[in-house]
Amino acid sequence: MNETTDADLRSFIPVAADSHFPIQNLPYGVFRRLAGGPASIGVAIGDQILDLTFLENQGMINVPALGKYRLFDRGKLNPLMAAGKRVWSETRALLSRLLRSDERTLRDDPALRQQALVSMNDVTMLLPAEIGDYTDFYSSREHATNVGTMLRGPENALMPNWLHLPVAYHGRASSIVVSGTDVVRPHGQSKPDKAVEPIFGPSRLLDFELEMAVFVGPGNDLGHPIPVTEAEDHLFGLVLLNDWSARDIQAWEYAPLGPFLGKNFLTTISPWVVPLEALEPFRCAGPAQAPIPLPYLQAMGQGAFDIHLEVLLQATTMPQPSCICRSNFNVLYWSLAQQVAHHTVNGCNLRPGDLLASGTISGSTPDSFGSLLELSWRGTKPMSLPNGEQRAFLQDADRITLTGWCQGAGYRVGFGEAIGKVQPAHR
Ligand code: CA
Repeated sequence: MNETTDADLRSFIPVAADSHFPIQNLPYGVFRRLAGGPASIGVAIGDQILDLTFLENQGMINVPALGKYRLFDRGKLNPLMAAGKRVWSETRALLSRLLRSDERTLRDDPALRQQALVSMNDVTMLLPAEIGDYTDFYSSREHATNVGTMLRGPENALMPNWLHLPVAYHGRASSIVVSGTDVVRPHGQSKPDKAVEPIFGPSRLLDFELEMAVFVGPGNDLGHPIPVTEAEDHLFGLVLLNDWSARDIQAWEYAPLGPFLGKNFLTTISPWVVPLEALEPFRCAGPAQAPIPLPYLQAMGQGAFDIHLEVLLQATTMPQPSCICRSNFNVLYWSLAQQVAHHTVNGCNLRPGDLLASGTISGSTPDSFGSLLELSWRGTKPMSLPNGEQRAFLQDADRITLTGWCQGAGYRVGFGEAIGKVQPAHR
């Protein structure tokens, strides 16, 4: 906990109580002005963006731990991610001071403010980082149990390894896109339950997955594991992630090596990366772990965060999106630190800008299930929407929004949105 997260802090920029971006948050993102020009780096404050690329050009980012090294001139967050905790902390403290209601530098200089601040309405958000490698974990016990029950029955729902290690697979970084990018219904091979031979065509069982993901900061050298006690020092910040899934393609292809074309056609993330430091006030205990994990996975202290999560669906005939899932990041059985310790224990190297996703974040109640596969129980219990339609899986033109926030006393530290609309399959 430090002064940048103090609940009493206020900015000279007005911030609504339900805004995701009060001065206590200060998430980083990459944007381009609609008027054109190069990509810039900014922090969100209310409905504005403070342009850090501009401030750095003006010589206004004076961070002692940084020296003359520049962080914001390359249109991506990788240099900041690589710089490590001390630089993150000093930069955040500087930005928090600049935006405070009692700080005059920007507040009382309209000409400077005019150049340093831009309305969110006047920009396009870009991918925040160059993502080298992408890993998707499977850390919700409830999600793994639900899916295992559907595939293997309730007696064998969890595989024997699940309570001993954070299961994951290597995903595809090239098809990770920023919120607002449409998802085109993919083609693929599948085998309907009663069919004798596989068929080829547009996926019939398109789904979303409610996940969050963490960007790696400083990496580790090949062959040198990151101890669980140091793991969080290697983590920069969190985003929302929608792991679009074609269930029919996935079900046919997944044995024995796991997800492939049923997953790698698109993955959507939210554009604002919320630093771990902003989440400190919302740290909490995760689920109790039994059996006790092996020593390399044993972490002291609280490793979870209380982040309220929602999924909204809007069909074309619906005037408003409708909430179809409410969950929380704190249900995840395996912590971020345990994921990093496990990922690197064999010597695998992580690099700045790598992305580690949590896996679908399903809670214990049916309204907290983080995918349509679970919400409709593999299509056997379609959901009813306010417009009278039913949904087992996504239809063309459906729009899915993931959102989430930490609720403080009178303010929200939020993640914005990860949005995607389903476009019909290419002909
Ligand atoms: Ca997933």
